[in-house]
Amino acid sequence: MRKPSFLMVCCALTLTLVGCNTSEQPETEQPVDEPTVSEQEPTTPPEESPTESTEEEQVNEEPAEEPPVETPEEEAPPIELVPTEPIERDGQANLALDTLVLVNKQIALPSTYKPGDLVTPNIDFVDSATGDRRMLRQEAATAVEALMKDAKAAGIDLKGTSAFRSYEYQVQLFNSYVARDGKEQAMKYSAPPGHSEHQTGLAIDISSASVGYQLTQGLEQTKEGKWLADNAHTYGFIVRYQRAYEAETGYMYEPWHLRYIGVEHATNVREMNVPFEQYLEQLMD
Ligand SMILES: [Zn+2]
Repeated sequence: MRKPSFLMVCCALTLTLVGCNTSEQPETEQPVDEPTVSEQEPTTPPEESPTESTEEEQVNEEPAEEPPVETPEEEAPPIELVPTEPIERDGQANLALDTLVLVNKQIALPSTYKPGDLVTPNIDFVDSATGDRRMLRQEAATAVEALMKDAKAAGIDLKGTSAFRSYEYQVQLFNSYVARDGKEQAMKYSAPPGHSEHQTGLAIDISSASVGYQLTQGLEQTKEGKWLADNAHTYGFIVRYQRAYEAETGYMYEPWHLRYIGVEHATNVREMNVPFEQYLEQLMD
């Protein structure tokens, strides 16, 4: 039996080295010790090594042996409105999420998608918004009517500038932006067809007289823009593209773009101060 004797030698060697280590620097000797044992005894069963290993080696092995001691984690999601569906399938938006549907640079709606419950909310629009571009899904339309009514009562002058956009309209719009500014620039403020949240019928651009009803970041500094930022969530809307989310969403800050997700979720998103993408991921985790 050569092994035991060899092991004994190793043990003695190790002990000697450990003895040295304790009185000197442990770090410097360690690398010399370990390779010697493992190189010369490749066939040594793993069970034997603890008997001859130093304390440091045993500490190293512990994590590998720990997994069986795992404590089972059971986290029952307490939120009632948690959808069980996936957020997307192969880059296609999951319409079953209803008012929580996620559309972004990576996730698209089918080109044929048009919501079945589009209605025209009874609010003020700029003249250039015509036809179905004034429409929203029923729930969002009711919500924006309440928002506009309360805004007006508070002396806040707002108008809708663009709500639903069909796939076909987005084709025209995006192409015109690309022709004007180039694709890279256009991608920062507009969406390729299928990737626009306006196609969901849950998004509306709102602006104020104080900025000539333009879609401009200057809206942020106006009392109307501030009112929107402070109050939109109480009607179920989020200011979807925040300055702090630019890197994550791929869109520049758009103080005018409101997305309807319902009061409870909009309030959560505002409190958590995270992009809608991140909120949904946490919600559905
Ligand atoms: Zn918009």
